[in-house]
Amino acid sequence: MPYQAEYIWIDGTVPSPLVRSKTRIIADGKQPGIWGFDGSSTNQATGSNSDCVLRPVFVAKDPLRGANDKLVMCEVLNTDMTPHVSNTRAACAETAKTYAAFEPWFGIEQEYTFIQNNRPYGWPEHGYPAPQGPYYCGVGGDKMPGREIVEAHTAACIKAGIAIEGTNAEVMMGQWEFQIGVLAPPLIGDQLWMARWLLFRIAEDFGVFATLEPKPMLGDWNGAGAHTNFSTKAMRAPGGWDAIIAGCEALKGRVREHISNYGIGIEERLTGAHETARFDKFSYGTSDRGASIRIPWGTARDKRGWLEDRRPNANMDPYVVSRLMVETVCGAASANPRRGAARNGKATTGATSTRARAKQPVAAKRARATKATKRLAKAS
Ligand code: ADP
Ligand code: MN
Ligand code: MN
Ligand code: MN
Repeated sequence: MPYQAEYIWIDGTVPSPLVRSKTRIIADGKQPGIWGFDGSSTNQATGSNSDCVLRPVFVAKDPLRGANDKLVMCEVLNTDMTPHVSNTRAACAETAKTYAAFEPWFGIEQEYTFIQNNRPYGWPEHGYPAPQGPYYCGVGGDKMPGREIVEAHTAACIKAGIAIEGTNAEVMMGQWEFQIGVLAPPLIGDQLWMARWLLFRIAEDFGVFATLEPKPMLGDWNGAGAHTNFSTKAMRAPGGWDAIIAGCEALKGRVREHISNYGIGIEERLTGAHETARFDKFSYGTSDRGASIRIPWGTARDKRGWLEDRRPNANMDPYVVSRLMVETVCGAASANPRRGAARNGKATTGATSTRARAKQPVAAKRARATKATKRLAKAS
């Protein structure tokens, strides 16, 4: 018997793309292959030259249909099989290949808000619910609207084989979170986009929709982010602390480029209040939820583990964010192999070259100078 394959892709809507999908009936025993769509209806082509190509990149079991049905995450190509301009996965995959020896891993916390009748799900028709406080990880009464949708979404992700790790209710009523990971790029992007599609699709059945808007309610209500947890092999290895700090320092050097690629509307969310650092400031610290980068307490205790970039918006593109983080952190570690991150990577060389040293930030130079001074003091 033929089966149904739901082909899912990311469109060309600006400034934030939408997810699209359509169904293909495939003969028994055949795998989902290349397909196409009308790009003129998705902001991906003109009417006169409208064909775009769908190439499957990640296939999963469809948890909503029959046992043989599939979900097919795709990337969009031009008809000459080159990546379409809206295709952010291709560059992510390229970067992942370049820095494969660093073995980068990601875990992403996806926050989102349920909306019904133009207001967060469960909010009163007039006025506001009780202020923030009881909703985060809350239970009971009419405080927790949306739980039935969250339950259905979680079960669907597990059934599909998506690496969902957990869920929780968030600080604002109607806002929730799920986490996906730990996965290497670009798979982290494939699975997060598929999990988003499942969320949107399942919410339909409840007469609700889920939005990734970063600041759905202005005022004293938390925004929605996508904290991006990141590690390399060196960060996870014993003594990985140096690589983690080097990673934070590398991120400090490219604040503007990261912020401008972390999702539309980031200035409204990263105000400096509501558990965020200001978008134009950069800081990192252990357990600090007001910092741009938080080093989890377990990582600080073990002197190895991972870092959490708290800046990305809920509406960020995980292909873009994971590419940038790898480029910035692994790129810096390649240029400065003695500073930790590349110790277990391919870029292991003996001494740092003069050229690489010239590129090092002042802080690193200072730290080295201090070490050298101490060594001298000991020797004398
Ligand atoms: P919190 O809400 O306290 O920030 P969560 O439990 O929501 O924490 O999320 C923790 C995230 O850290 C998960 O997405 C998980 O995948 C991620 N994570 C755990 N270990 C690693 C690691 N070694 N490298 C990268 N990410 C990691
Ligand atoms: Mn979380
Ligand atoms: Mn959260
Ligand atoms: Mn977090």
